[in-house]
Amino acid sequence: MKRSGRSSALLDLLFPRRCPFCGTVGIRDSLCLKCRDTLPYTGDLQEEDRGFARCAAPLYYEDGVRKAVLDLKFHGKLGGLDCFGELMAQCAARQFAGEFDTVTWVPVSRRRGKQRGFDQAQLLAEAAAGHWQVRPVPTLVKTVDNPAQSSLEGAEKRRANVLGVYEPVGENIYGHRILLIDDVLTTGATLAECVRVLREAGAAEVLCLTLARVRA
Ligand SMILES: [Zn+2]
Repeated sequence: MKRSGRSSALLDLLFPRRCPFCGTVGIRDSLCLKCRDTLPYTGDLQEEDRGFARCAAPLYYEDGVRKAVLDLKFHGKLGGLDCFGELMAQCAARQFAGEFDTVTWVPVSRRRGKQRGFDQAQLLAEAAAGHWQVRPVPTLVKTVDNPAQSSLEGAEKRRANVLGVYEPVGENIYGHRILLIDDVLTTGATLAECVRVLREAGAAEVLCLTLARVRA
């Protein structure tokens, strides 16, 4: 996404754009040319069937991508959202065009949201859905403030940790074809649990989209 016109020239002067992946300052696009060419793209393997749902991601969770996600999540660096949204929107358009009518996200608990001041998956959903002139809607609440998945080793522990911590909310589940957005797909335990809850609440379809996934 390019900034254009006089006001954006001023904006560039006041807030020089920074590549979200490597930190290079003063770039013209939403990422630097080097990263554009060298990011760990999933390429022809954007989509995977994980058993619980079809999951798509434009990037592997490595190197600069990992740093960018951690910067967003734990340091509140929101400057990369344009870029992330664009990559995710392109990925969904390629893998899931015409297959969803509702965009939603994997929420953090109210307590975590309050501590952090934002919900990174919601911001990613808004950034991606903005490309389709759609507003993401909440369909899940996280009712239990469980330990972070990243603090747990092993698929079994991660599955147990998220079991029953999400509840369905709102009018946008039953009969809807849902695109569920999160930041990273690791073991898939969180997404699998959210998909289960949405299906039980009557979703006609659930597809998953993340910015990045761990390489199998
Ligand atoms: Zn870069």
